[in-house]
This record gives sequence, C-alpha cells and structure tokens, in this order.
Amino acid sequence: MFELERERLVKNLIIEGYIKSEEVEKAFLKIPREAFVPDSLKMRAYMDTPLEIGYGQTISAPHMVAIMCEALDITEGQKILEIGAGSGYHAAIVAHLVGEKGHVFTIERFENLAKQAQENLRKTDITNATVETGDGSEGLEKNQPYDRIYVTCASPGIPQPLIDQLKDYGKLLIPVGRMYCELKLIEKKGEKIASKNLGGCVFVPLVGKHGH
Ligand code: SAH
Repeated sequence: MFELERERLVKNLIIEGYIKSEEVEKAFLKIPREAFVPDSLKMRAYMDTPLEIGYGQTISAPHMVAIMCEALDITEGQKILEIGAGSGYHAAIVAHLVGEKGHVFTIERFENLAKQAQENLRKTDITNATVETGDGSEGLEKNQPYDRIYVTCASPGIPQPLIDQLKDYGKLLIPVGRMYCELKLIEKKGEKIASKNLGGCVFVPLVGKHGH
C-alpha cells in the first residue's frame, strides 16, 4: 500500500545526495517506515521529517538515517551498537545492511519504547536486531567490542565507554551538542582517535550518566 510513497522518497533521497550506495538504497526500499510510526501518523510515514513516537521522542527523518548509514560505511557481518532505539526504524535499516551474519544491538532508556521497538522489528521480520532497556550513555558492555557504534541523540561530549567498547579501527558516529549538534565521526586507531565533523543536525538529548 505504501510502496509507491516509499519508492518516491528513496528517489528523492538519491537526487538530494543523501543515499549514495546501492546497499543503503536497497535497505530503504525494503524496510516499511509506516510499521515504525504510531497508527495516527502512518499517512505521514514517507514525508522526510521526524515524527512523534511518544514520551517526547521522535523517529529521525529519513535523510538523517541515510546520512548516518552512508557515513558509517556498514558492511555485511558487522556487530553494531545503536544508542537510542526509539521506534526501531534506524536499527531495522542497519540490520538489513549487516545481513544475517551481522547483528544490531540497540539500547533505549524508556522501557515502553524499547518494547514497542522490539515488537516493530518482530512484525517486520527482522531477526538480527535486539533491543535492550538501559542507559546507553554507558554503551552496552555485554556484547562489546563493536565494529560500529552510533548515537541517535544529542550528546554533551564523547562518552569514554563508547570509545572503549569499539574495536580497533572501529567507527563511532555521534551528534555532539545540546539540540543543535555537530555530527562527528570518530575512528579508533590503537591509542589514537581521529575525529571528523560531518555537519550540523538536530536531535533529542542523550540523558544518563554521560548525557545531559
Ligand atoms: N533511532 C530512533 C530515533 C531515536 S530518538 C529511531 O529510529 O526511531 C532518540 C532516542 O534516544 C529516544 O527514544 C530517547 O528515549 C533515547 N535516549 C536518550 N538518552 C538515552 C540513553 N542514555 N540511553 C538510551 N536511550 C536514550
């Protein structure tokens, strides 16, 4: 029912330069965003904007999900950690990118959102993404180290546990700021950390021990 809208959105994201790779294009064509938003907002699922998902939180705009997926250079088989599961949509896209041999762990501080996100993933037949409830500003110790970690909320800085839980040559993508943020891509190379600014963005705040 939403296929035409989905195709149109993907076409626009390509024209606008947000989707660059075939892999990200395929993931966006496959994952039904309407299954990750409340019933009352389904008709707006293919607008390129954030939408309310309850508890004052939002599902990110599709172009932001695309920017982050392209920047992280995700490949099949990787183990990935997301901070801020929200609706589970971004995790679903990443789960598609890492394929059956990979896995996405995503952590959410609101238990009800975490339950809803896991249910959204189940409904859409995604079996390689697991939602945990807890304070993601401390990362997720039990499955570390990760190939990639990305944060979908605004962080005051770069939480040390996230660096510690990255593999060597792993990458961390994190919006740093209060609401208006700079999206930073951090690469861990042994003891060294390389950091690149990817531009401005807006996110709800990361709270918790290493949050606001
Ligand atoms: N990735 C989501 C968008 C998430 S919005 C999606 O695709 O829908 C950011 C989410 O981060 C919110 O749900 C918020 O509750 C959560 N959050 C904020 N601080 C957190 C923390 N310390 N640990 C875990 N989740 C957190």
